Amino acid sequence: MEFEYYMPTKIFCGRDCVTKRGEALRALGKHALIVTGKSSAKNGALADVYAALDANGQGYTLFDRVTPNPTVGCVREGIALLESAGADFIVAIGGGSPMDAAKAIATLAVQPRTDEEIFAGGYRAEALPMAHVPTTAGTGSEVTPYSILTNDGAQTKTSITSPAMFPRYAFLDGKYMNGLSRATTVNTAMDALSHAVEGVLSRNATPISDALAYESMRILYPLLPAAGGERLTTDERDFLLYASALAGMTIAQSGTTAVHGMGYALTYFHHIDHGRANGLLLGEMLRLCEDKGLPQVEKIVKACGCGSVDNFCACLSDLIGAKEKISREELIEYAARAMKNKNIKKSAYEPTQAEAERLYLRSFGYTD
Ligand code: NAP
Ligand code: FE
Repeated sequence: MEFEYYMPTKIFCGRDCVTKRGEALRALGKHALIVTGKSSAKNGALADVYAALDANGQGYTLFDRVTPNPTVGCVREGIALLESAGADFIVAIGGGSPMDAAKAIATLAVQPRTDEEIFAGGYRAEALPMAHVPTTAGTGSEVTPYSILTNDGAQTKTSITSPAMFPRYAFLDGKYMNGLSRATTVNTAMDALSHAVEGVLSRNATPISDALAYESMRILYPLLPAAGGERLTTDERDFLLYASALAGMTIAQSGTTAVHGMGYALTYFHHIDHGRANGLLLGEMLRLCEDKGLPQVEKIVKACGCGSVDNFCACLSDLIGAKEKISREELIEYAARAMKNKNIKKSAYEPTQAEAERLYLRSFGYTD
């Protein structure tokens, strides 16, 4: 029993929490840079943030040019706008991409770095204050201290982190996700499940991160068939969002592990959505951990209520449907790349290169 726990984000959860509790934003500054993509103008989230800032008499400037898998170029564009607008805090609205771009903007604005130094680590705990409004239920970025950016130099995705990257506030309201496509709903739900499962399969798991992870699985897993089938109710969306935040609070302590480390190559080289990339690999990772006799596997199966690892894999396969065609040679190359990834080293069972190759191959339907 030796661990630390730090999660400084205040969470407001509930219908219309942005407008009902928006006075909290007053404490963050005078002028907000709103960091988002294009969907928040259509799903009601941007209008609610405008209403809250207007009610507080705060100014704002809109930066709505964040696209999926944010790049350093996008972050630089955001910083330039922040500076020209004189913004002193950030409101991020969207999925993981705008939330992660916002965290990098908030940090690099006060700790400038050259492109070469961005992924070198060693950030001070200093950033502009942020409030996050997630509009997907998947990344949990609203409660983590990580920003994951496309790292073209290393041809992968790499996280940057500091304790100041935890947002000051997170506003959770499932109503923004009513128009979310089936594909994004499923992919982001698989990301959240992956965070919870990888969290307990991490060397850095703690009693608190485990408690959060198993509770996340208990809520999330039974919702997966509905997420992949008929439309979800707004209440079900609320629960997915809550479970995603619990899984985010898990990885805020434990970090992500082999599945994320191996998934990045699928996103970087094949443009497979982040959550789907994890979903493609998660079942085989659980099988490997079962083969290695990890005691967490039985607890994961119990928390999900799925009865067996085989059933867990079948549920994910149903959600994934037809898989992308990736050659054997490419997958073998990704296994070699994954060995260099920092996430894989955090796995409670760290796959060897040969096991990583098998894991990729089996995940894409190859026999050994
Ligand atoms: P995303 O890239 O943020 O969004 C995916 C798509 O969904 C976009 O086209 C977006 O449109 C749209 N969208 C978002 N919310 C919507 C809504 N309510 N209604 C309709 N459309 C909506 O996807 P994501 O899966 O949430 O985030 C993935 C990113 O997060 C990856 O870069 C991943 O590496 C990162 N991540 C971060 C953490 C962390 O701890 N920081 C953890 C896991 C993953 P617009 O872009 O036009 O708005
Ligand atoms: Fe993720």
